[in-house]
Amino acid sequence: MKYGITTRILHSDHVTGVEHGAVHKPMHTSAAYTQGSARDLAAVFKGDQSGYVYARQGNPTGAALEAKINLLEEARATACFSTGMAAIAAALVSLLRSGDHIVSSAFLFGNTNSLFQTLQAMGVEVSFVDSTDVKQVAAAVRPTTRIVFVETIANPRTQISDLAGIGALCAEKQLLYVVDNTLTTPVLLRGRDVQAGLVVHALTKGIGGHGNSMGGSVSDTGLFDWSKYSNILPAYKKGDAANWGILQIRKKGLRDFGATLRAEDAHRIAVGAETLVLRLARACDNALQLAQWLEKQPQIARVYYPGLKSHPQHQRAADLFKGSFGTLLSFELRDGFDCFDFLDALKLVIVSSHLSDTRTLAIPVAHTIYWEMGAERRKEMGIVDGLVRLSVGIEDLTDLQFDFTQALGQFKA
Ligand SMILES: *Cc1c(COP(=O)(O)O)cnc(C)c1O
Repeated sequence: MKYGITTRILHSDHVTGVEHGAVHKPMHTSAAYTQGSARDLAAVFKGDQSGYVYARQGNPTGAALEAKINLLEEARATACFSTGMAAIAAALVSLLRSGDHIVSSAFLFGNTNSLFQTLQAMGVEVSFVDSTDVKQVAAAVRPTTRIVFVETIANPRTQISDLAGIGALCAEKQLLYVVDNTLTTPVLLRGRDVQAGLVVHALTKGIGGHGNSMGGSVSDTGLFDWSKYSNILPAYKKGDAANWGILQIRKKGLRDFGATLRAEDAHRIAVGAETLVLRLARACDNALQLAQWLEKQPQIARVYYPGLKSHPQHQRAADLFKGSFGTLLSFELRDGFDCFDFLDALKLVIVSSHLSDTRTLAIPVAHTIYWEMGAERRKEMGIVDGLVRLSVGIEDLTDLQFDFTQALGQFKA
């Protein structure tokens, strides 16, 4: 019998036998590791034997978390990194070369957008397209295209890419499909279900869930044929081609770039992951109820949430996300209502940039996280000055509604 996902996460450490009978994997903080003999150490270095040599390349606590993310994504292999951005950068920088082309969703997490500008400065070409429409993705593909990159629920306007359609396109054209699954987590969607080759997560967000640690991950679903990928270095083209991609990402991202997840953070994220299903159920329910309620408030012009019937990709989200719609929503106040005044009137909700925390957070996106990209790019992304983004937590719903009622009450409708 195959256990359910929460059961598997809770029991994944101890079933493999933890030191001293501990039921959690302990925090291994040693920087250096020794093996039984010098020959064994050499074998680990060569990759002929598994083991640890130096913590920059990984430690047992991180490996236990990697096993959990792997379970969640039903992936082939997972590598963890110090942050979500480190994971994305490790994957893209290690797999792209000058002259390569990537097709990306135009609706992106701001720092990923900025990373793509760095890649452009290094000679990688990037086409930003409206990925809610697979035809636009298909039209942007060139002979030099290596990667298609999308997020599951776009931040902050919650557009839902044609995730399955793009997966089919990438499979047909043998393109590496990279899906940032942070906003949905494997509870709402597994990357493999839409034929992703690589799935990335900001573990800092939903999987860790408590806003007390940072981390990121890259999972290889096993669906992409690495023997056809042009940028694998000769050193990593050994043995089964299925291992090549994640090996190169690991070697470059961890060993060379040093974007290593600390054992303390791996431990906290692993503990957070134990309650992922429970937290998401509550937070997604809160988000749906709040979105429906906010849509009826006269001070609010527009609410963006995939769970609303008014959302252009509502049906797609319902088909893909197992009946839940995530914890992110955003809304525009009616003209004449100042978003700063509104945010400052909130007493319970915290004004902060984080996402998928247990606590509800709100932020004026155009003035903060999307400020640096400039007015023109914001316009393309549909981010108006009065847009407020909400990351809904697990508080008691009535308390959240009370806070929004009193904050909106400051404005005469
Ligand atoms: C937060 C976030 C990231 C980056 O993660 P960090 O851990 O903050 O570096 C990447 N993608 C998405 C969709 C995010 O929300």
